[in-house]
Amino acid sequence: MRGGVIENQEPKETVLQELPAAEDKGPAEDVRTVFETGARGFLLIRCASCGKEYSFNAKEPLEKSVCRACGSVTQLDELAVAELRCPACGRTWRYRTNSEEPEITCRCIKCGEEMTGRWNGKLRRYMPRE
Ligand SMILES: [Zn+2]
Ligand SMILES: [Zn+2]
Repeated sequence: MRGGVIENQEPKETVLQELPAAEDKGPAEDVRTVFETGARGFLLIRCASCGKEYSFNAKEPLEKSVCRACGSVTQLDELAVAELRCPACGRTWRYRTNSEEPEITCRCIKCGEEMTGRWNGKLRRYMPRE
């Protein structure tokens, strides 16, 4: 056994590579993320304040909605998908909704018949009630 102290030699000098200065910043364009915030299309919104449900077609993505009945603002985030099928004309409509009720109802856009969607916990969306 050779007696020897193993010296833990660490290099004293730290190699710091200087990064080249960022000279080219490119066009001064505000590139925003393409992820769209808010919801658009057919929305079925349940007022957080008075509980009234109303639906409308949002042309632009909305982050909040004002209740027509009481005027309070409901935030539109993490909306669930709701598929509703009209029992009269057979059309299927796709909504986004903030409702947390086991069932939602809405009038068919085409014929005005009442449609009912039932929450499907497995699919995490409202499906047409059979
Ligand atoms: Zn309201
Ligand atoms: Zn219909």
